[in-house]
Amino acid sequence: MGFIEALKLRSKLWFLFLLVTIGLFLVGTVGALNINSMKKSLDSLYFGTLIPVIELNEILQIYHGSITNTIYKAKNDAINRSQVSSEIQDALMKVNYQWRNYESHFKRDEESQYIEYAASQIEDTNNYFKKILQAIVNGDDLKNISIKSFEQEMEHIHKTIKKLISYEVKVAKYERKKFLKVYESMIFSVGVILLFTILGVSVISFYVFKSIQNDHANLEITTKKLQRANKKLENASYTDVLTTLHNRRYFNFIYDRELKRAKRAKSFITFMMLDIDFFKQYNDTYGHIKGDLALKSVAKVLKSSLHRPSDYVFRLGGEEFGVILVDTDKSNSAKLAKTICDSIRDIKIKHEASKVNEFLSISIGVVCCIADEALDEKVLLSRADEMLYSAKSGGRDRYTITTNASESTTPSVSELKPKT
Ligand code: GH3
Ligand code: MG
Ligand code: MG
Repeated sequence: MGFIEALKLRSKLWFLFLLVTIGLFLVGTVGALNINSMKKSLDSLYFGTLIPVIELNEILQIYHGSITNTIYKAKNDAINRSQVSSEIQDALMKVNYQWRNYESHFKRDEESQYIEYAASQIEDTNNYFKKILQAIVNGDDLKNISIKSFEQEMEHIHKTIKKLISYEVKVAKYERKKFLKVYESMIFSVGVILLFTILGVSVISFYVFKSIQNDHANLEITTKKLQRANKKLENASYTDVLTTLHNRRYFNFIYDRELKRAKRAKSFITFMMLDIDFFKQYNDTYGHIKGDLALKSVAKVLKSSLHRPSDYVFRLGGEEFGVILVDTDKSNSAKLAKTICDSIRDIKIKHEASKVNEFLSISIGVVCCIADEALDEKVLLSRADEMLYSAKSGGRDRYTITTNASESTTPSVSELKPKT
């Protein structure tokens, strides 16, 4: 069965289809052939034997019944001559009619000779009765009819027809045997074909089923792998390679989504723009590799400073970062900005070229407001930029916060100088 297993599902299905078709074709052909043969046997039984036997019995009945009665009555003068004549004529007509019918049926070669003989005997018997009819016409006395010769005639024709009947019965038995043989052989061959077809179909179906199951299992595994790969790809497309923070692409998506959500709920939205102080000088002093390590450390601090699942931190590009907070009021946003400034300073990354601190520091521009329909997403970003600029020009290493997210050129800026 290895070869079936090796076939592809499509080929297995074809194989199954072919097997069922061949099986059905064979059953049909064998059935049709045998049924044809059985029909012949039945025809032969019915028309070749049963009906002929009935006809022969009918002839016997006429000879032994009506004609015999008429002869006895005629001899005893119980009926008049014209009645005798018409009854005999009527009986002979019936005999001839039945015999013609009998002869018209299918006859075997081996019986034709005896049938010819029987026909001549029936003719002789009928001639015997025709002589009686002639005697009636001649006005002879019917009492002179010899009962002995009449009975001899009857006995002879009886024996002749009986022999024919017993031959027909023998043929009937033979035909029945033949019929049963054909019937049994048909049942056997159809049974064998069906058995092999069912066996074949079961075996192939088993492999088809197994194939489908394997394919399905493989498909499930592949789908899961694909889903995992897609998830990884999606994560990768949203992740900054150096810091593993969310990237600018993801920022665009989240910023839009959270702003819409805050607008619907009319709740607080906070956006922070962060920029490392004198980072160009840092690179110039310590080199780009150290600069990258510093960026990673800053990212780590930002990550650990934000605890809520709804807090997002992004690397927007270069040494600039962004933070989005939801449902956080001005005082809590200010606290968080201060914590970030403090924490960056506290990791104590030496920055000799900084003009504000001996360690690496960061400046933050914060906008915290209640989102409403009038809030413009671009203005919110540019206001954060303005706040960052304000923090930079105010001495760096600090944050500047505003609750005014409109395009006003004179924002209400509250400035808090972090503890140094
Ligand atoms: P300030 O922001 O305080 O005004 O001064 P700055 O020196 O930080 O100003 P600027 O924005 O001009 O400099 C940004 C520097 O950040 C320039 C570049 O050397 C450095 N930088 C940007 N991206 C990367 C990076 O991926 N790796 C490293 N090592 N340095 C980067
Ligand atoms: Mg910059
Ligand atoms: Mg900078």
